[in-house]
Amino acid sequence: MTSHTKLKFETELTKLFVARTHELTSTLWPKVGKAPYLTRKKILLSVDRLQSLAEQNFMKSNEAKDIFDDRDYKKQWHKSGKGYGLSAKQNSFKLWYDAHIKTKNNVYIFWNGSRCLYVGRTLNGKNRPTSQFEKYWFGKCTRVDVYGFHGKRKVPCFECMATHKWRPQFSKITPASKKYYRVCPVCEGKEFIENEVKSLFRLKY
Ligand SMILES: [Zn+2]
Repeated sequence: MTSHTKLKFETELTKLFVARTHELTSTLWPKVGKAPYLTRKKILLSVDRLQSLAEQNFMKSNEAKDIFDDRDYKKQWHKSGKGYGLSAKQNSFKLWYDAHIKTKNNVYIFWNGSRCLYVGRTLNGKNRPTSQFEKYWFGKCTRVDVYGFHGKRKVPCFECMATHKWRPQFSKITPASKKYYRVCPVCEGKEFIENEVKSLFRLKY
């Protein structure tokens, strides 16, 4: 963790600690001003901030880079200048996909310029990216990145990591549900932070 991020993380924890021990210290040394009471809402907001600091930090790590490098190939489709209208675009993508993507386990990312629209996955060839053609945002799509995998195990983690990294406008995080799949370290880290903070600063009532 960079020292700047670490400092922010520790400051956030200190704020919670000060609020949590306010009652105790103020009986010994009465304080002036508003008491920093701890509430469920404050704890949850802190958990949020701590999680996003940890997430940003992890994304810069070698471990994150290794996950993004750990796929069998990457291919890119660009909206071609030829053909007009939505159906021409759909056809162009479909032809390209069938010609270039030979794996059944893939993560695909739809882009509008530098803006990420959607992150999805196919496992065993189910939910191919063409199933997104009906979505109203497909018209905005200018590029699709496809990451191919020979096996299934790493796919949900890769998809989840891509969602953390590029924050797609139209899709949500879908962590791996089965034990067989590689676990997303960001989701795992977030859960750990939430459990730790809630147990450290448990409310009395
Ligand atoms: Zn995740």
